[in-house]
Amino acid sequence: MKDYTIYFRNGFVRESEAMISFRSASFQYGINVFEGIRGYYNSTKNDLYLFRLKDHIIRLLRSAEMLDLRTDKRLTPEFIESKIIELVRLNNFKEDIYIRACLFLDDDGGWSSHGPVSLLLSAFPKGRSFVETEGISCCVSSWRRINDGSFPPRIKAGPNYLNSRLALLEAKRNGYDYCVFLNDRQSVSEGPGACLFIVRDGVLITPPLYASILESINRDSFLEIAKKSLGIDIKEREIDRTELYIAEEAFMAGTAIEIKPVFMVDHITTNEGNVGNITKRLMDLYFSMVRNENIEYRHWLSSVYKEG
Ligand code: PMP
Repeated sequence: MKDYTIYFRNGFVRESEAMISFRSASFQYGINVFEGIRGYYNSTKNDLYLFRLKDHIIRLLRSAEMLDLRTDKRLTPEFIESKIIELVRLNNFKEDIYIRACLFLDDDGGWSSHGPVSLLLSAFPKGRSFVETEGISCCVSSWRRINDGSFPPRIKAGPNYLNSRLALLEAKRNGYDYCVFLNDRQSVSEGPGACLFIVRDGVLITPPLYASILESINRDSFLEIAKKSLGIDIKEREIDRTELYIAEEAFMAGTAIEIKPVFMVDHITTNEGNVGNITKRLMDLYFSMVRNENIEYRHWLSSVYKEG
């Protein structure tokens, strides 16, 4: 494994030099909040673009705030942003990458302490997650999505992924690629690591923010590009399980998964197992946008090598 440069606590070090105590509340209880951020390399422009970096940093700090993790005054959005750009430059990545930004409880004071909170930034190469013509099979999970009354999915914290893990492993054991959660109201929530969209009567539909979901940055992006650039009607509304069976199209979206067509839910085929027209148009626009081939969405990109 390559020993990349990371940002850890107060400066840049090699991955192999970073040490964290087994006594820390992050290790013992998983008290951390994090973000996954993608960077796309454009070889023609010889630049790397980080997608919606500022929005990820805002969500990271909000996650910390909701858990009353008290970050040092030094950890402003601007500071974290500049360190992420510096991190990518120091590693000199000239390919697509994935960045992890994490704030973690860095002491042995137990799970209820407020600090000290440390910053960890790391990055590694990561290409496209799948082949464009392929879709995934999903089941509706027998596990319920965590909810705002006990374990808020709005907070992007490591421990939330216990719920995701239970659901995804069950899905795989039963022969599916992925799964969809229902929430406490029995309506569709999201996937274990991605949000969900369906198309009905040509309208792009996704569950509302109160459907026990993460406030996904890609959810926001797809709603905006569908409406603004493709003129597609959008709707944020509750989705019933049975609507998944009759949807014209369905796809999952998120930073890691990007945009992934769903070809089957509970063994019921969607769009005869083909990538739907709206999904394909969104996919094409998304992948040109993230590589800075679409000027309209330039404001969502942070240039690593040509600016600052
Ligand atoms: N929901 C969950 C549970 C996730 O883990 C993710 C991935 N971060 C998403 C949705 C998609 O969020 P985003 O578009 O901000 O990556």
